[in-house]
Parts: sequence; structure tokens; C-alpha cells
Amino acid sequence: MAKTIISAALTGAVTPKSLTPHIPITPKEIADDAIRVWKEGAAIVHLHMRNDEGRGSLETARFKEAVDRIRDNTDLVLNLSTSGGGNVSDEKRFEHVVTLLPEIASYDVGTFNWLPGGIFANSPDFLRKCGRALIECGVKPEIEVFDGGMINAAMYFLEKEEGILQAPLHFQFVLGVHGMAKAQPQVLTQLHSMLPAGSTWSALGVGAGHLPILYTAVAMGGHVRVGLEDNVYYAKGQLATNSQLVARAARLIREFNNEPATPDEARAILGLKKR
Ligand code: ZN
Repeated sequence: MAKTIISAALTGAVTPKSLTPHIPITPKEIADDAIRVWKEGAAIVHLHMRNDEGRGSLETARFKEAVDRIRDNTDLVLNLSTSGGGNVSDEKRFEHVVTLLPEIASYDVGTFNWLPGGIFANSPDFLRKCGRALIECGVKPEIEVFDGGMINAAMYFLEKEEGILQAPLHFQFVLGVHGMAKAQPQVLTQLHSMLPAGSTWSALGVGAGHLPILYTAVAMGGHVRVGLEDNVYYAKGQLATNSQLVARAARLIREFNNEPATPDEARAILGLKKR
């Protein structure tokens, strides 16, 4: 039976508690949500941390508190974000990764306007430093793809420069950010056709694009990401919890006659180094 990996993106760096009371903010809240989604069928948790004001933080101590608690209570695969910590140095963006050694870290191969207000900056130099650091400590980059050019950028680093990315690549399609590729089935199928052979991939749709991309990714044989980082609603006007979003994904995967992958099955599928 085919296995589908569910990644749960529990909090992100932006969504405030005022938008949904269900968003986990403290390291303990984030870890507790990780334990809950693990019980519902998630194999991977994608983590950001927040500071005392609730904004994105890349502080290693905060990550460590959540990571320790998750490792003590689950066998989840950890995917730590390298973004969302405000204006910090290139090195600071992966300091927590090389210190805590998750199995996956996010890797964003492009700079763009995150409309309406932000610039998502990922310079070539940052990508070189981060890529080399991840290879050195055996962490697999999850290449986040917001439009087709980012696949080409990943292929550039894979093919034209030494020691930054290693095949097989793993991609996460992040669809529906304003100004970038839309969260539509036809967009996902087109982007998917651009992937190099042998890649693994997962997909998510932001906001209202959540369900169209979830269903399409399962139908296409990909893996899926759900969670409050990407979408705070279960249905129109009805706020979700992380557990509810993961439980629904697990249910529809089973209805499709696949099985949600266990963390160890996800490790095997993605070729991860177990910690
Ligand atoms: Zn993230």
C-alpha cells in the first residue's frame, strides 16, 4: 500500500493569537501540538519559534526547548525552518539547525515580494552557506518552491556549483502566496512536471487553496503538508486546530487507499539520516 507523508506546519512565524486562539506560540505549546499531530498520523513537523511578542524567532534556545520535548515524547521527523526570524545574519538562520541536528531544514531558493508587505530575501550567498552547512551536518534540505523559477534555481545549484545541493532533491510546493504561483491543481501538475527525475515532493496550499492542493497532491502520489502555518480554517468561518487538520489529511489519505507514512517510513522514503 502506498505511503503518504503528512508534514504538519504547526505555527509559522506570522499568524497572531488574535487571529486564532489555536495557534501554538511558546516552545511548550508548539511541542504539545507536535505530540498531538503525531498521534493523528503526522510523520514530520515543520517548526518555527516565536519570541515573547509572538513574532518569528530563530533563537536556538527556543528551538531546543521544543525539540527536546518532541524527541522525548515522539519519534517524529523534525524539519526546522531557516526563515522567519526577522533581520538576522546568514549564519544565524541555520545556527539552530547545525546545533540541534534535525533531519530536515527548509531551504528557500529565491527572493521575492511576499505580498502585501514583505520581501522574502534568500541571497545566493546565503544559499551557498546554508547548503554547505546542511551537507556538512547531514541535514536534508526541503526545497520550498513558490514558483517555477525556484526549481530552476535549485537545479542551478545542483548542476553548476559543487557541494551546495545533493540529489535526490526533496521539494515542498508552497502554493497560494500572493504574487507567486497559485494554489490550483493545474499549477501543481505543471510545476511537478518540471522536477528532476528521482525527486521526492510534497505540497501545500495557503488559505483557501488548502483543500484543492491537499486532494491534488494525494491524487498525484505526492506527500502533503497541513497546519496552522498555512491555513487557520477547517471550513469557511470555522477555525481549525493542528490536530484537526492532520486528522482530516490522514482520513482522506486512507479513503484514497493509501496509508499515512510513519516517521520511520518517511525516513526511508526521503533517505534521511535517523538521529
Ligand atoms: Zn515555515
